[in-house]
Amino acid sequence: MTLLILFSGRELCVPVSWAANSVDSTQTISVCGSTIDISLKGDTQDISRDVLVNWVKRAATAVCTYYGKYPVPHVALKVHVHGGPGVHNGVTYPAGTGGLIRISVGAATTLAQFDSDWTLTHEMIHLTFPSMAENHHWIEEGIAVYVEPIARVQAGQLSAKQMWADLLRDMPQGEPQAGDQGLDRTHTWARTYWGGAMFCLLADVQIREQTDNRKGLQDALRGILNAGGVITQDWSIERALAVGDKATGTTVLTDLYSQMRDKPIPVDLAALWQRLGIQRKSDAPVDLISSAPLADIREAITRPQKMATANPGITRVVSRIVAAVRSGWAADSGVSGDTKTCPGWALLARPRVVGRAAFRSARAAPTACPPVARRGRSRPTERSLRSTTTSPNPIGALRLPPLGTGRSWT
Ligand SMILES: [Zn+2]
Repeated sequence: MTLLILFSGRELCVPVSWAANSVDSTQTISVCGSTIDISLKGDTQDISRDVLVNWVKRAATAVCTYYGKYPVPHVALKVHVHGGPGVHNGVTYPAGTGGLIRISVGAATTLAQFDSDWTLTHEMIHLTFPSMAENHHWIEEGIAVYVEPIARVQAGQLSAKQMWADLLRDMPQGEPQAGDQGLDRTHTWARTYWGGAMFCLLADVQIREQTDNRKGLQDALRGILNAGGVITQDWSIERALAVGDKATGTTVLTDLYSQMRDKPIPVDLAALWQRLGIQRKSDAPVDLISSAPLADIREAITRPQKMATANPGITRVVSRIVAAVRSGWAADSGVSGDTKTCPGWALLARPRVVGRAAFRSARAAPTACPPVARRGRSRPTERSLRSTTTSPNPIGALRLPPLGTGRSWT
C-alpha cells in the first residue's frame, strides 16, 4: 500500500492541512508547500466536499509530479457549482503570488467523472509558464495540452496506453491547413491548442534524440519554472525557449520555433507514431511496440522523474525501494509495453476503469470551441478549456473572439 502511494506521489506531494467539512464554502489545502484556497458558489448543497477536495489534490499532484514542485506559492480556486454532471470549463489568471483559477462543475458530477477529469490539471499547468504576448498563446496552450496527460500518467492517474491513444486521435488537429501562416500568425482553435501540442511533442522527441534520451521537454519546462518563469511573469517567447534550451543543453526549442513560427510546417505524424512504437488497435487503445526505434524515448516521456524534496537522502532510499520493487513486479507479472515503466498505475487504476470509459466518451463528444483571449496588465488572461471535436475545423471557421471577451461567472 505504501508503494502505491509512493508511485502516485500523494504522500510525497500533498501534506494535508485543510479545515474540516462544514457548511462553510471555503477550504484551504496545502500542496507541495503551496496553498490552494478553494471556494464554492452556486448549488453547493449537494456536492461532497471530500470528493471535491480530492479532485483538487489529484490535479495538484499531477502538476507537482511533472514539475517536481507546485509552481506558485498560492492559488485561489473558485469553483462554481452549476449545470449538469461533469467539469465544464475553466479559466486561469495571474493573481498575487500565483494564480486565480475559475472552474465550473455540476452538482451531480460523479466520483468517476472527477477522477478522470483533465481540465483542472490543464488549468494548473498554466501556472507553470510565463505569460506570453498575444501571438504566442499557442505555446501556453500547447504546453498545457501536451503536458496534462503526461503528468497524469506520471502521477499514476492515467495509463500510458490511453494517453498515447488520445494523442494519436487528437494530434492531427494541430496540422496546418490551407492558408496557414505558422503558429505565431494562425490563431485558430486547432492551431492554438493542438498546433502548440504538436510543437511540444516534436520538441520532446528531438531533445531526447539529441541527448541520448537523458533530457526531454520536461527538463526544459522545469528549467523555465525554476528560473522564475511562472504565470505572473511576462516573458518574451524567445527568452522562455532559450531558458528551456539551456536546461537541456540543446537548441531544439529555439530552432523549432524559428521553423514553425511563420510558416506552415506539416508533420508526418504517422511516421512519428511508427518510430515511437504506437500502433492503433481495434480492440484496445493502442499497442506499444517495445522494438520500435524510439520505444525508449516513448517510455521515458511518461516515466516519473524524481520529486523535488527537502531531504535527498530519503529520496534516494525511496528511489531504490521503488526501483527494486518495480523490477521485481515487472519480472513477475509478465506484462509488456509501457506498463513496465509504471506498474504502480496498473495496480492503482483498476478501480477507475469506469472513469476512463466516461473520459473517452466525453472527449470524443463534439463541443463548442473555446475562445482564447489575451492578457493585459489590467485584463487578466483567459485560458479556456481544451476541447476536442470530431469534425474538421476549417481555417477561418473558428476565429478567436475580440480580445477581452472571456466569459464571466458573475
Ligand atoms: Zn488552457
